[in-house]
Amino acid sequence: MPVLVTLDTNQPGEEVALEMKAYPGSKMLDQLKANNRAWAEGKVADDTAFFSRHENHQSPEYLWIGCSDSRVPANEIVGLAPGELFVHRNVANQAPPSDINYRSVLQYAVTELKVKHILVVGHYGCGGVAASLQDGLSGPVDQWIDPIREVYKQHRADLDKVEDEKERLNRLCELNVMRQVQNVASDKYVRDAWEHGQEINVHGWVYNLGDGLVTDLDVTVSHSS
Ligand SMILES: [Zn+2]
Repeated sequence: MPVLVTLDTNQPGEEVALEMKAYPGSKMLDQLKANNRAWAEGKVADDTAFFSRHENHQSPEYLWIGCSDSRVPANEIVGLAPGELFVHRNVANQAPPSDINYRSVLQYAVTELKVKHILVVGHYGCGGVAASLQDGLSGPVDQWIDPIREVYKQHRADLDKVEDEKERLNRLCELNVMRQVQNVASDKYVRDAWEHGQEINVHGWVYNLGDGLVTDLDVTVSHSS
């Protein structure tokens, strides 16, 4: 049965009508559905309790805050299975104190899941970081990456000394990660947890799309002082 809905859009005074339905004899995304069945069957074939083990709870030790880039698949990169990594991804791995989405994830990870490690993971060649250096953007993404422009301004003297454009962008990717580590480490939920003796380490990593390896930027924060 089709469901018809009329919704307000995020443009004032504008409505959009949507029809939501199953497409008869649907061939849409059949390959992905087949992939999914094969994946689930393969997991159970190797380990009968693979899904049932985590069905009613999760207890990951790690929170990953990374970029949405399709080339940076969190679980795969660090070899962790479902249930082992709590994940938040957005454009250019931001952790802005004003973002309710990121902060909800952080709150839940710290106060309920009690993760021991928070990994802020940027990547070299990040399109979001590169876009912050260009003019002509508009819309939400322009606003979203604005904090990276602040990072650039703060480090402008050093960054401008780097002649190679790619190298300069990669340095800004690293500085952006460091800034987000500071944001996470100064968050109320993280500081409260430290005050109550909870072990949390906030790490800054950067991933190399060219060889699949992460580099630890050695900027770990383990307590507030
Ligand atoms: Zn990116």
